[in-house]
Amino acid sequence: MKDAASPPTRPEKQDWHDETAVLHGDAWLSSDGAVCPPIHYSATFKAESAQEFAEMATTPRHPGFYTRYGNPVHKRVEAILANLEGTETALLTASGMGAISTTLLALVTRGDHVIAQRRHYMSTSRLFEEILPRFGVESTVVDQTDLDAMAAAIKPNTRLIMVETPVNPTLALTDLRAVADLAQPKGIITIADNTFASPLNQKPHALGIDIVLHSATKYFGGHHDITAGAICCSNAHAEKIWDMHTTLGSVLSPMDAWLLLRGLRTLSLRMERINANALALAQWLEDQPQIERVFYPGLESHPQHALALKQMRGFGAVIAFSVKGGFDATSRFVSGLKLATHAVSLGGVETLAVHTAAMWSGTMTEAQMKTAGIEPNFVRMSVGVEHIDDLKQDLAQALSPAS
Ligand SMILES: *Cc1c(COP(=O)(O)O)cnc(C)c1O
Repeated sequence: MKDAASPPTRPEKQDWHDETAVLHGDAWLSSDGAVCPPIHYSATFKAESAQEFAEMATTPRHPGFYTRYGNPVHKRVEAILANLEGTETALLTASGMGAISTTLLALVTRGDHVIAQRRHYMSTSRLFEEILPRFGVESTVVDQTDLDAMAAAIKPNTRLIMVETPVNPTLALTDLRAVADLAQPKGIITIADNTFASPLNQKPHALGIDIVLHSATKYFGGHHDITAGAICCSNAHAEKIWDMHTTLGSVLSPMDAWLLLRGLRTLSLRMERINANALALAQWLEDQPQIERVFYPGLESHPQHALALKQMRGFGAVIAFSVKGGFDATSRFVSGLKLATHAVSLGGVETLAVHTAAMWSGTMTEAQMKTAGIEPNFVRMSVGVEHIDDLKQDLAQALSPAS
Protein backbone atom coordinates (compact mmCIF):
# COMPACT_ATOMS: atom_id res chain seq x y z
CA MET A 1 0.00 0.00 0.00
CA LYS A 2 1.44 3.25 -1.20
CA ASP A 3 0.43 5.69 1.52
CA ALA A 4 1.85 3.46 4.23
CA ALA A 5 5.38 4.62 3.46
CA SER A 6 4.93 8.08 4.90
CA PRO A 7 2.34 7.81 7.67
CA PRO A 8 -0.16 10.67 7.68
CA THR A 9 0.14 13.01 10.62
CA ARG A 10 -2.82 13.95 12.74
CA PRO A 11 -4.08 17.47 12.02
CA GLU A 12 -3.07 20.06 14.60
CA LYS A 13 -6.47 21.02 15.89
CA GLN A 14 -9.52 18.80 16.21
CA ASP A 15 -11.45 20.31 19.06
CA TRP A 16 -14.70 18.57 18.32
CA HIS A 17 -17.23 17.52 20.88
CA ASP A 18 -17.00 13.83 21.80
CA GLU A 19 -20.20 13.08 19.86
CA THR A 20 -18.47 14.26 16.66
CA ALA A 21 -15.02 12.87 17.44
CA VAL A 22 -16.25 9.27 17.63
CA LEU A 23 -17.54 9.61 14.07
CA HIS A 24 -14.92 11.80 12.41
CA GLY A 25 -11.79 11.60 14.58
CA ASP A 26 -10.21 9.15 12.13
CA ALA A 27 -11.38 10.83 8.90
CA TRP A 28 -7.90 12.19 8.12
CA LEU A 29 -6.66 8.63 7.62
CA SER A 30 -7.24 7.62 4.00
CA SER A 31 -9.71 4.82 3.22
CA ASP A 32 -9.60 4.83 -0.59
CA GLY A 33 -13.05 6.35 -0.82
CA ALA A 34 -14.85 3.75 1.28
CA VAL A 35 -17.31 5.39 3.69
CA CYS A 36 -16.87 2.49 6.07
CA PRO A 37 -13.14 1.86 6.57
CA PRO A 38 -11.76 -1.46 5.31
CA ILE A 39 -10.35 -4.13 7.64
CA HIS A 40 -6.65 -4.42 6.88
CA TYR A 41 -6.46 -8.15 7.52
CA SER A 42 -2.77 -8.47 6.84
CA ALA A 43 0.10 -9.37 9.12
CA THR A 44 2.66 -7.75 6.84
CA PHE A 45 2.84 -4.92 4.30
CA LYS A 46 4.95 -4.64 1.18
CA ALA A 47 7.44 -1.96 0.22
CA GLU A 48 7.88 -0.74 -3.34
CA SER A 49 11.60 -0.10 -3.03
CA ALA A 50 14.57 -0.72 -0.80
CA GLN A 51 14.38 2.87 0.35
CA GLU A 52 10.71 2.58 1.23
CA PHE A 53 11.36 -0.66 3.10
CA ALA A 54 14.08 1.01 5.16
CA GLU A 55 11.74 3.87 5.97
CA MET A 56 8.92 1.52 6.98
CA ALA A 57 11.23 -0.56 9.14
CA THR A 58 12.75 2.37 10.99
CA THR A 59 9.72 4.64 11.52
CA PRO A 60 8.43 4.12 15.07
CA ARG A 61 4.73 3.23 15.20
CA HIS A 62 4.53 2.88 11.41
CA PRO A 63 0.90 1.97 10.54
CA GLY A 64 1.73 -0.43 7.71
CA PHE A 65 4.91 -2.45 8.15
CA TYR A 66 4.07 -5.44 10.35
CA THR A 67 0.88 -5.71 12.42
CA ARG A 68 2.63 -6.26 15.75
CA TYR A 69 4.17 -2.81 15.14
CA GLY A 70 0.92 -1.23 13.97
CA ASN A 71 -2.00 -1.64 11.58
CA PRO A 72 -4.11 0.91 9.66
CA VAL A 73 -7.25 -0.11 11.60
CA HIS A 74 -5.39 0.39 14.90
CA LYS A 75 -4.47 3.89 13.72
CA ARG A 76 -8.11 4.80 13.21
CA VAL A 77 -9.17 3.68 16.66
CA GLU A 78 -6.12 5.34 18.20
CA ALA A 79 -6.97 8.65 16.50
CA ILE A 80 -10.46 8.62 17.98
CA LEU A 81 -9.33 7.63 21.47
CA ALA A 82 -6.62 10.33 21.54
CA ASN A 83 -9.29 12.81 20.54
CA LEU A 84 -11.63 11.67 23.32
CA GLU A 85 -8.98 11.69 26.05
CA GLY A 86 -7.35 14.92 24.80
CA THR A 87 -3.92 13.30 24.52
CA GLU A 88 -1.40 13.58 21.67
CA THR A 89 -1.80 9.95 20.72
CA ALA A 90 -3.06 6.52 21.77
CA LEU A 91 -1.85 2.93 21.45
CA LEU A 92 -4.11 -0.13 21.18
CA THR A 93 -3.47 -3.46 22.89
CA ALA A 94 -5.17 -6.84 22.92
CA SER A 95 -6.80 -6.31 26.33
CA GLY A 96 -7.04 -3.85 29.18
CA MET A 97 -4.46 -5.86 31.12
CA GLY A 98 -2.25 -5.74 28.03
CA ALA A 99 -2.41 -1.94 28.21
CA ILE A 100 -1.74 -1.83 31.95
CA SER A 101 1.10 -4.38 32.08
CA THR A 102 2.82 -3.01 28.97
CA THR A 103 2.69 0.55 30.30
CA LEU A 104 4.05 -0.37 33.72
CA LEU A 105 6.82 -2.59 32.37
CA ALA A 106 7.84 0.11 29.90
CA LEU A 107 8.18 2.79 32.56
CA VAL A 108 9.75 1.14 35.61
CA THR A 109 13.12 -0.37 36.26
CA ARG A 110 14.86 -2.14 39.15
CA GLY A 111 15.22 0.20 42.14
CA ASP A 112 12.17 2.30 41.31
CA HIS A 113 9.33 2.87 43.75
CA VAL A 114 5.70 3.03 42.65
CA ILE A 115 2.45 3.99 44.39
CA ALA A 116 -0.90 2.30 43.77
CA GLN A 117 -4.33 2.21 45.39
CA ARG A 118 -5.39 -0.35 47.96
CA ARG A 119 -8.18 -1.26 45.58
CA HIS A 120 -7.63 -1.65 41.87
CA TYR A 121 -8.90 -4.00 39.23
CA MET A 122 -7.75 -7.33 40.69
CA SER A 123 -5.06 -8.12 38.10
CA THR A 124 -3.67 -4.58 38.40
CA SER A 125 -3.28 -5.10 42.14
CA ARG A 126 -1.42 -8.32 41.40
CA LEU A 127 1.02 -6.45 39.17
CA PHE A 128 1.83 -3.98 41.93
CA GLU A 129 1.77 -6.34 44.88
CA GLU A 130 3.28 -9.53 43.43
CA ILE A 131 4.84 -9.10 40.01
CA LEU A 132 6.70 -5.76 40.04
CA PRO A 133 8.38 -6.57 43.41
CA ARG A 134 9.79 -9.73 41.80
CA PHE A 135 11.71 -7.46 39.43
CA GLY A 136 13.06 -5.15 42.13
CA VAL A 137 10.34 -2.50 41.93
CA GLU A 138 9.00 -1.60 45.37
CA SER A 139 5.34 -0.61 45.63
CA THR A 140 3.35 1.19 48.30
CA VAL A 141 -0.39 0.69 48.36
CA VAL A 142 -2.50 3.51 49.85
CA ASP A 143 -6.17 4.24 50.54
CA GLN A 144 -7.26 6.17 47.46
CA THR A 145 -9.50 8.53 49.44
CA ASP A 146 -6.62 9.57 51.72
CA LEU A 147 -4.51 12.20 49.94
CA ASP A 148 -2.27 12.67 52.97
CA ALA A 149 -1.37 8.98 52.82
CA MET A 150 -0.64 9.37 49.11
CA ALA A 151 1.63 12.38 49.78
CA ALA A 152 3.37 10.58 52.66
CA ALA A 153 4.07 7.56 50.45
CA ILE A 154 6.17 9.56 47.98
CA LYS A 155 9.89 8.75 48.13
CA PRO A 156 12.88 10.21 46.29
CA ASN A 157 12.81 7.23 43.90
CA THR A 158 9.04 7.25 43.28
CA ARG A 159 8.67 6.78 39.56
CA LEU A 160 4.91 6.69 39.10
CA ILE A 161 1.53 6.82 40.79
CA MET A 162 -1.32 4.68 39.46
CA VAL A 163 -4.94 5.50 40.22
CA GLU A 164 -8.31 4.13 39.18
CA THR A 165 -11.62 5.95 39.66
CA PRO A 166 -14.35 4.94 40.28
CA VAL A 167 -13.19 1.57 41.57
CA ASN A 168 -14.71 -1.70 42.74
CA PRO A 169 -16.43 -2.62 44.99
CA THR A 170 -17.84 0.56 46.56
CA LEU A 171 -17.19 2.86 43.59
CA ALA A 172 -14.83 4.96 45.72
CA LEU A 173 -13.27 7.88 43.87
CA THR A 174 -9.75 9.28 43.60
CA ASP A 175 -9.28 13.04 43.30
CA LEU A 176 -7.48 13.14 39.95
CA ARG A 177 -6.49 16.82 40.06
CA ALA A 178 -5.11 16.47 43.58
CA VAL A 179 -2.99 13.43 42.65
CA ALA A 180 -1.64 15.21 39.55
CA ASP A 181 -0.78 18.24 41.70
CA LEU A 182 1.13 16.02 44.15
CA ALA A 183 3.10 14.27 41.42
CA GLN A 184 3.82 16.96 38.84
CA PRO A 185 6.26 19.15 40.81
CA LYS A 186 8.28 16.03 41.67
CA GLY A 187 8.41 14.72 38.10
CA ILE A 188 6.43 11.60 39.03
CA ILE A 189 4.41 10.06 36.18
CA THR A 190 0.69 9.72 36.86
CA ILE A 191 -1.41 6.96 35.32
CA ALA A 192 -5.19 6.62 35.56
CA ASP A 193 -7.32 3.61 34.65
CA ASN A 194 -10.38 5.42 33.27
CA THR A 195 -12.31 2.28 32.33
CA PHE A 196 -15.16 2.66 34.84
CA ALA A 197 -15.88 6.28 33.88
CA SER A 198 -15.10 6.46 30.14
CA PRO A 199 -13.81 9.71 28.61
CA LEU A 200 -17.39 10.77 27.96
CA ASN A 201 -17.83 11.08 31.73
CA GLN A 202 -14.34 11.93 32.95
CA LYS A 203 -11.16 13.25 31.30
CA PRO A 204 -8.15 12.57 33.53
CA HIS A 205 -5.63 14.20 31.17
CA ALA A 206 -7.47 17.52 31.35
CA LEU A 207 -7.09 17.24 35.14
CA GLY A 208 -3.31 16.80 34.86
CA ILE A 209 -2.91 12.99 34.66
CA ASP A 210 -0.17 11.95 32.20
CA ILE A 211 -1.30 8.55 30.93
CA VAL A 212 -4.89 7.31 30.65
CA LEU A 213 -5.51 3.56 30.35
CA HIS A 214 -8.59 1.65 29.28
CA SER A 215 -10.05 -1.75 29.05
CA ALA A 216 -11.65 -1.14 25.64
CA THR A 217 -13.46 -4.44 26.26
CA LYS A 218 -15.97 -2.39 28.25
CA TYR A 219 -17.66 0.82 26.98
CA PHE A 220 -15.52 1.33 23.87
CA GLY A 221 -16.34 -2.03 22.32
CA GLY A 222 -19.69 -1.81 24.05
CA HIS A 223 -21.18 -5.11 22.92
CA HIS A 224 -19.54 -7.73 25.15
CA ASP A 225 -17.90 -9.29 22.10
CA ILE A 226 -14.18 -8.38 22.01
CA THR A 227 -11.34 -7.81 24.47
CA ALA A 228 -9.11 -4.81 23.80
CA GLY A 229 -7.10 -2.18 25.64
CA ALA A 230 -5.84 1.35 25.07
CA ILE A 231 -3.09 3.66 26.30
CA CYS A 232 -3.70 7.41 25.76
CA CYS A 233 -0.67 9.66 26.31
CA SER A 234 1.99 11.94 24.83
CA ASN A 235 3.97 10.95 21.74
CA ALA A 236 7.10 10.59 23.88
CA HIS A 237 5.47 8.20 26.34
CA ALA A 238 3.76 6.31 23.52
CA GLU A 239 7.03 5.65 21.71
CA LYS A 240 8.57 4.28 24.87
CA ILE A 241 5.54 2.12 25.65
CA TRP A 242 5.25 1.01 22.00
CA ASP A 243 8.86 -0.16 22.15
CA MET A 244 7.92 -2.48 25.05
CA HIS A 245 4.66 -3.38 23.27
CA THR A 246 6.51 -4.71 20.20
CA THR A 247 8.42 -6.99 22.58
CA LEU A 248 5.55 -8.13 24.84
CA GLY A 249 3.24 -8.52 21.84
CA SER A 250 -0.20 -7.76 23.29
CA VAL A 251 -1.45 -7.08 19.77
CA LEU A 252 -5.13 -6.60 18.89
CA SER A 253 -6.26 -8.46 15.79
CA PRO A 254 -7.32 -6.22 12.86
CA MET A 255 -10.81 -7.74 12.98
CA ASP A 256 -11.24 -6.92 16.66
CA ALA A 257 -9.84 -3.42 16.08
CA TRP A 258 -12.48 -2.98 13.38
CA LEU A 259 -15.25 -4.17 15.73
CA LEU A 260 -13.92 -1.71 18.27
CA LEU A 261 -14.07 1.07 15.68
CA ARG A 262 -17.64 0.12 14.90
CA GLY A 263 -18.51 0.10 18.59
CA LEU A 264 -16.97 3.53 19.11
CA ARG A 265 -19.27 5.13 16.53
CA THR A 266 -22.19 4.80 18.96
CA LEU A 267 -20.27 5.40 22.20
CA SER A 268 -21.81 8.78 22.96
CA LEU A 269 -25.35 7.53 22.29
CA ARG A 270 -24.83 4.49 24.48
CA MET A 271 -23.24 6.48 27.30
CA GLU A 272 -26.16 8.91 27.42
CA ARG A 273 -28.62 6.08 27.91
CA ILE A 274 -26.35 4.14 30.24
CA ASN A 275 -25.74 7.17 32.49
CA ALA A 276 -29.45 7.94 32.65
CA ASN A 277 -30.50 4.32 33.26
CA ALA A 278 -27.88 3.67 35.94
CA LEU A 279 -28.70 6.82 37.89
CA ALA A 280 -32.43 6.12 37.71
CA LEU A 281 -31.93 2.52 38.81
CA ALA A 282 -29.59 3.50 41.66
CA GLN A 283 -32.14 6.02 42.94
CA TRP A 284 -34.95 3.49 42.63
CA LEU A 285 -32.92 0.84 44.49
CA GLU A 286 -32.34 3.25 47.39
CA ASP A 287 -36.12 3.28 47.92
CA GLN A 288 -36.54 -0.49 48.00
CA PRO A 289 -37.05 -1.96 51.50
CA GLN A 290 -35.06 -5.13 50.64
CA ILE A 291 -31.93 -3.09 49.85
CA GLU A 292 -29.48 -2.23 52.60
CA ARG A 293 -27.29 0.26 50.77
CA VAL A 294 -26.58 1.51 47.24
CA PHE A 295 -23.18 2.71 46.02
CA TYR A 296 -23.14 5.02 42.99
CA PRO A 297 -21.15 8.26 42.58
CA GLY A 298 -24.23 9.97 41.16
CA LEU A 299 -26.20 9.48 44.41
CA GLU A 300 -26.18 12.21 47.05
CA SER A 301 -25.60 9.45 49.60
CA HIS A 302 -22.22 8.56 48.02
CA PRO A 303 -19.54 9.73 50.49
CA GLN A 304 -17.63 11.47 47.68
CA HIS A 305 -20.59 12.85 45.73
CA ALA A 306 -19.09 16.37 45.76
CA LEU A 307 -15.89 15.07 44.15
CA ALA A 308 -17.99 13.13 41.62
CA LEU A 309 -19.73 16.36 40.60
CA LYS A 310 -16.36 18.10 40.36
CA GLN A 311 -14.54 15.63 38.12
CA MET A 312 -17.27 13.64 36.35
CA ARG A 313 -19.97 14.65 33.88
CA GLY A 314 -21.90 11.41 34.17
CA PHE A 315 -21.42 8.48 36.52
CA GLY A 316 -21.30 5.40 34.31
CA ALA A 317 -22.93 1.98 34.18
CA VAL A 318 -21.75 0.35 37.37
CA ILE A 319 -23.84 0.40 40.50
CA ALA A 320 -23.18 -1.70 43.58
CA PHE A 321 -25.68 -2.53 46.29
CA SER A 322 -26.13 -4.79 49.28
CA VAL A 323 -29.20 -6.93 49.70
CA LYS A 324 -30.75 -7.46 53.15
CA GLY A 325 -30.61 -11.05 54.36
CA GLY A 326 -26.96 -11.94 53.70
CA PHE A 327 -25.37 -14.31 51.23
CA ASP A 328 -28.36 -16.58 50.63
CA ALA A 329 -30.88 -13.78 50.02
CA THR A 330 -28.41 -12.14 47.63
CA SER A 331 -27.80 -15.38 45.82
CA ARG A 332 -31.57 -15.90 45.41
CA PHE A 333 -31.95 -12.34 44.12
CA VAL A 334 -29.25 -12.69 41.44
CA SER A 335 -30.57 -16.11 40.41
CA GLY A 336 -34.06 -14.60 40.11
CA LEU A 337 -33.07 -11.95 37.57
CA LYS A 338 -34.60 -12.70 34.19
CA LEU A 339 -33.63 -9.71 32.05
CA ALA A 340 -30.27 -8.87 33.60
CA THR A 341 -27.64 -11.43 32.60
CA HIS A 342 -25.61 -13.19 35.28
CA ALA A 343 -22.08 -12.46 34.01
CA VAL A 344 -18.93 -10.46 34.78
CA SER A 345 -17.72 -7.42 32.80
CA LEU A 346 -19.36 -4.04 32.26
CA GLY A 347 -20.09 -1.22 29.89
CA GLY A 348 -21.95 -3.14 27.17
CA VAL A 349 -25.45 -2.73 25.83
CA GLU A 350 -26.98 -5.52 27.96
CA THR A 351 -27.39 -5.24 31.73
CA LEU A 352 -25.15 -7.66 33.64
CA ALA A 353 -25.16 -8.57 37.33
CA VAL A 354 -22.83 -10.52 39.59
CA HIS A 355 -22.99 -11.60 43.20
CA THR A 356 -19.36 -10.84 43.92
CA ALA A 357 -19.00 -13.07 46.99
CA ALA A 358 -20.25 -16.09 45.02
CA MET A 359 -16.76 -16.41 43.56
CA TRP A 360 -15.45 -17.30 47.03
CA SER A 361 -18.49 -19.16 48.34
CA GLY A 362 -16.96 -22.61 47.93
CA THR A 363 -13.87 -21.77 49.96
CA MET A 364 -14.97 -19.29 52.64
CA THR A 365 -17.71 -18.95 55.21
CA GLU A 366 -19.77 -15.76 55.42
CA ALA A 367 -17.78 -14.71 58.49
CA GLN A 368 -14.46 -15.33 56.74
CA MET A 369 -15.63 -13.24 53.78
CA LYS A 370 -16.48 -10.34 56.08
CA THR A 371 -13.00 -10.48 57.65
CA ALA A 372 -11.42 -10.47 54.19
CA GLY A 373 -13.45 -7.40 53.23
CA ILE A 374 -15.71 -9.33 50.85
CA GLU A 375 -19.25 -8.31 51.64
CA PRO A 376 -21.37 -11.48 51.34
CA ASN A 377 -24.45 -9.53 50.20
CA PHE A 378 -22.88 -7.33 47.50
CA VAL A 379 -24.24 -7.16 43.98
CA ARG A 380 -22.45 -5.40 41.17
CA MET A 381 -24.56 -4.42 38.23
CA SER A 382 -23.54 -2.94 34.89
CA VAL A 383 -26.61 -1.18 33.60
CA GLY A 384 -27.26 -1.44 29.87
CA VAL A 385 -29.47 0.38 27.39
CA GLU A 386 -32.75 -1.50 27.96
CA HIS A 387 -35.88 0.48 28.80
CA ILE A 388 -35.64 1.61 32.42
CA ASP A 389 -39.13 0.34 33.31
CA ASP A 390 -38.25 -3.18 32.17
CA LEU A 391 -35.09 -3.09 34.29
CA LYS A 392 -37.00 -1.92 37.37
CA GLN A 393 -39.62 -4.59 36.83
CA ASP A 394 -36.94 -7.28 36.57
CA LEU A 395 -35.22 -6.16 39.77
CA ALA A 396 -38.56 -5.85 41.57
CA GLN A 397 -39.63 -9.40 40.73
CA ALA A 398 -36.20 -10.76 41.75
CA LEU A 399 -36.40 -8.89 45.09
CA SER A 400 -39.94 -10.10 45.86
CA PRO A 401 -40.35 -13.51 44.27
CA ALA A 402 -43.96 -14.71 44.28
CA SER A 403 -43.78 -17.71 46.59
C1 LIG B 1 -11.89 -5.06 32.81
C2 LIG B 1 -10.95 -4.12 33.44
C3 LIG B 1 -9.56 -4.23 33.25
C4 LIG B 1 -8.95 -5.36 32.44
O1 LIG B 1 -9.34 -5.28 31.12
P1 LIG B 1 -9.36 -6.60 30.15
O2 LIG B 1 -9.81 -6.01 28.87
O3 LIG B 1 -10.31 -7.57 30.76
O4 LIG B 1 -7.97 -7.11 30.14
C5 LIG B 1 -8.75 -3.29 33.83
N1 LIG B 1 -9.25 -2.30 34.58
C6 LIG B 1 -10.57 -2.17 34.80
C7 LIG B 1 -11.05 -1.06 35.66
C8 LIG B 1 -11.46 -3.07 34.24
O5 LIG B 1 -12.77 -2.96 34.47
